[in-house]
Amino acid sequence: MIIDRRGFLGTGIAAGASLAAPLVLAQDTPRVVVVGGGAGGATAARYIAKDSEGAVDVTLIEPTRTYYTCFFSNLYLGGFKTIDEIGHTYGTLASDYGVNVVHDWAVGVDRDAKTVALAGGGNVPYDKLILSPGIDFIEDSVPGWDLTAQNAMPHAYKAGSQTELLRAQIAAMPEGGTFAMIAPPNPYRCPPGPYERVSMVAWMLSRSNPSAKILIVDPKEKFSKQALFEEGWQKHYGGMIERIGPDFGAANISVDPAAMTVDIDGAVENVDVCNVISAQKAGRIAEAAGVTDGDWVPVNPADMSSKADPDIYVLGDSSAQGDMPKSGFSANSQAKVCANAVRGALTGSSVFPARYSNTCWSLIAENDGVKVGATYEPTEEKIASVDSFVSQTGEDAALRQATYEESEGWYAGITADMFG
Ligand code: FAD
Repeated sequence: MIIDRRGFLGTGIAAGASLAAPLVLAQDTPRVVVVGGGAGGATAARYIAKDSEGAVDVTLIEPTRTYYTCFFSNLYLGGFKTIDEIGHTYGTLASDYGVNVVHDWAVGVDRDAKTVALAGGGNVPYDKLILSPGIDFIEDSVPGWDLTAQNAMPHAYKAGSQTELLRAQIAAMPEGGTFAMIAPPNPYRCPPGPYERVSMVAWMLSRSNPSAKILIVDPKEKFSKQALFEEGWQKHYGGMIERIGPDFGAANISVDPAAMTVDIDGAVENVDVCNVISAQKAGRIAEAAGVTDGDWVPVNPADMSSKADPDIYVLGDSSAQGDMPKSGFSANSQAKVCANAVRGALTGSSVFPARYSNTCWSLIAENDGVKVGATYEPTEEKIASVDSFVSQTGEDAALRQATYEESEGWYAGITADMFG
């Protein structure tokens, strides 16, 4: 039945809009279900709905009514944005684009029946399913910490209440106290994210609590934009920030959320705030759909379809696609390629060749913005970087300010692209 319907739509809709009599097509309209209304999912839902002009039914399943962007959440920690400025709702996707927004959790995928089960009960049928559920944390990757300890030691790596909690804890630190960050191992969401966060916490503390210390416990040898961050930390924050890498025991740590201690290779440190960003994997629904290969979902570089099931596409952080970093910019870029491919497959509309891009901006101090980015193309094996750029150490203040202003323009653009 589905094959017949696709065949009909493949010729009919592409050939002429005169076939689009809503009552006739209502029950035969191909159905796309998108799980996750973040950078990847909201963009994909909006583009498919917008570009198919009613020829595809789009349902977006997302539990939260307000999506707080992780991008710019560090700027909220630094006091440069309010929490309301990083919160976005789904009303326009429903009212202006006709997306059926369902506020619920997807809890299972039946790939034979092609349905998604909802926590609130019921199953939503699909012809094509797009998963963009972001990340979940790998249990026990930081011994002593799990999600039950997220109030004592917040991750703030899914934005919203966790970010507000972390900011309140930083504000309540005793004079001269210690903020510790347990940085994640690769691969993880937003490679420069932890280090931008340290910059923003340092910005806040250097004003409110200048004798405070920041301790980064990092299992990685090196990190994104390292020279730029280290130069900026020296320039703006003097000796406030100390980073312990794997050479000095950071690969062998545990935490005690009740005692507020961090054990680094046997040396126990008392801390006042502890931001634990543990190791990560694809959002759990990807595992439930059976499309992961270990922690992430292998996808085809040309259209983001999963290697395990051609009718399931996986976007953003959950995907294992090659060279693109796990970022909102990447997820948005991948979503547009995927939306075009899905619409083409369902309606016969033309499909443009995939091309992807990414830029990650970070704010080190007021008006001191830096960036790294690249463009990408699909190869047989992966999404491969074609060319790249990065800010340089020693740049003048005007260029750094222009870079920050560019990031503000990007934020306005991407959130409009996601939510309309
Ligand atoms: P998300 O945007 O996280 O969206 C996933 C959505 O899926 C969520 O809304 C969630 O509620 C929903 N969901 C999960 N499971 C289910 C389920 N079972 N059923 C229904 N819905 C579900 N990126 C940048 O490009 N630039 C930046 O400056 C930047 N800064 C960052 C700073 C920080 C501190 C952090 C943590 C991240 C930053 N990022 C940045 C990264 C960016 O936020 C992510 O890479 C991006 O959000 C990934 O998009 P996504 O669609 O994969 O996941």
